Amino acid sequence: MRRTHPRFFAGIISILSGVVLFACSAAGIIAYTMPREAEMGTWEGFVAQYEAGLVKETRIYKGEKFFQYQTKDGQVRSVPKEDHSLQTRSGVKYMDDVRRGMLAAAAVSCLLLAPITAAFTTVSNSNRKTAAPIQQVKKPATSKEMPQTAPKESAAPKELPKTPPTPPAPPPPEPKEDPLFTSIVPKPVAIQETSVTFQDIAGYAETKKNMQFVVTCLQNPGLLQQVGAKIPAGILLYGPPGTGKTLMAKAIAGTAGVRFYSANASEFIRRYVGVGAENVSNLYKEARAHAPSIVFIDEIDAIGGARGGEGENQEYRQTLNALLTEMDGLSKDSGVMTIAATNDFEHLDPALIRPGRFDRKIAVPLPNYDDRLEIVRLYAGKRNMSEHVSLETIARDTAGMAGAGIHTLFNEAALHAVMCGRGIILPEDIDSALTQIQTNGVDSRTFNEEDRKCSAYHEAGHAVILRLLAGITVPKVSIVGNTSGSAGLTFFTEGENTQFTAKYLRNRIVAIYGGRAAEELIFGKDQVTAGAKNDLQTATRWIKEYLQGGLGGSLLDSEVFASVRGREAEEARSLSQELYGEAMTFLGQHREQLDRVAAALLEKDSLLEEELNSLI
Ligand code: ADP
Repeated sequence: MRRTHPRFFAGIISILSGVVLFACSAAGIIAYTMPREAEMGTWEGFVAQYEAGLVKETRIYKGEKFFQYQTKDGQVRSVPKEDHSLQTRSGVKYMDDVRRGMLAAAAVSCLLLAPITAAFTTVSNSNRKTAAPIQQVKKPATSKEMPQTAPKESAAPKELPKTPPTPPAPPPPEPKEDPLFTSIVPKPVAIQETSVTFQDIAGYAETKKNMQFVVTCLQNPGLLQQVGAKIPAGILLYGPPGTGKTLMAKAIAGTAGVRFYSANASEFIRRYVGVGAENVSNLYKEARAHAPSIVFIDEIDAIGGARGGEGENQEYRQTLNALLTEMDGLSKDSGVMTIAATNDFEHLDPALIRPGRFDRKIAVPLPNYDDRLEIVRLYAGKRNMSEHVSLETIARDTAGMAGAGIHTLFNEAALHAVMCGRGIILPEDIDSALTQIQTNGVDSRTFNEEDRKCSAYHEAGHAVILRLLAGITVPKVSIVGNTSGSAGLTFFTEGENTQFTAKYLRNRIVAIYGGRAAEELIFGKDQVTAGAKNDLQTATRWIKEYLQGGLGGSLLDSEVFASVRGREAEEARSLSQELYGEAMTFLGQHREQLDRVAAALLEKDSLLEEELNSLI
């Protein structure tokens, strides 16, 4: 027999068993990183443990239908992400079977194959002619990641001959983030040492007085307790966007000299279940540690929308519950006050506004004329304004705008002045900025003469009726196209009243129809354009308002008395015909004014208030 045969045979066995050993070790590692079934939990169990503060960490396995959490005493549990029920043999269970099988296979194979590999390697080595110096080989994998059943270091050959010479062993790989596993580390909340004070808020004298009271509560909690009054647990600021709710919350913190923790409720909600609640809990942990402090939660409706609405799912409810638990758990002298803001007070979950939670509600409405004038003065005072700019006119023309819009107006006006090579803001800069804001920008399309004439009469129709019939101020009328899609615009000043009379509403609707009526009067029924689509939508909305307000004759509420819907639609149709007819008649009687305004528009593109008034 040839002497080479056993060595060759041993070499083959050694290579094969080495490959199998490697494969089994890899399977063991993969199996180890798979989620385990062992501690299946329920959603309710998770919630209970979470609320009791026993959850240490939440883990999400990408692409899986469950998440895991670890309790402070080291137990790991899996909970299905979606349906939170355990009735079915879930993906976790399936994964666990696979994992168990793979681990067992890895363990058995390693135990059996490692000695064989070692034995044959020794046989093979002993048959080599040249003796090689001995070299230490570094451990190939991080033992930390290996399961208990994975092959032990001793099972692998510790020493290998250096024939042929082996390259220097590579350093152990840097531990990489496991792609299967994402540990959720809640985003830190923004902490602001705010320097905002009530000086930065213009107008809103009454609201500021209320805020000052809150500052007193924060600065002297004992004062209120002395007279038996309770410090409000939470304050809810509600009103349209941009009215300065955030600014006010910051001013409270700035004036009281306390820390300001700000968070947006919609940011609490992340893709994974349980994170919103964790974020809330972290937020309050921070705030308590640095009390006295203010926790400000913007857009609270994102988690506190009324049940049954969009927000009705486990994650939203969980986050809201966490917030309520935190608020309920704050003692009177914790020094942490919660201020929340919303644009949607009507649809808040009643649990939020129950006494003891957001029990102080402060409305922050759109600014009235006096408030706007104050805001205009504040921002004009910070800029180089021409003396020809009338602050009162700006306050009047910005009716319906919030403080944020007025601030933007001044920024836009300043930009316009700079673009025109000036360091001073003129009335035309304000005018340009106002148009920019109200129309979303000027359209550079050029219109042919026929279109321009049509637009001129359309806008003149609105303007003449607004001024002469409704007595409403028209600061500007223009036939310059804009990016909101129309080929012209008539600006008018909304009254400060919040309750509209029947006469006011009717005249307004007639004025809205005035554009189309003018087209028909001048060019004939067949030549009327479809450009009045927006007008018709607006008019229909106002007609609905008019009828629902009981001004159309019927004193039934259509929502309550659903069967009158059909009749109301009929009423709406005949009312629109009637008011459109009024527009036609009125313009027919004021044809001269209509022609003059249209001609001036064709000549100049835009007319400001005084020019318009002198023409009609
Ligand atoms: P909200 O929180 O109500 O949406 P913000 O507080 O964020 O509104 O206001 C946005 C910006 O509008 C402020 O930073 C400020 O520049 C301006 N602003 C709003 N209201 C006022 C006001 N009353 N006085 C001065 N600036 C205001």
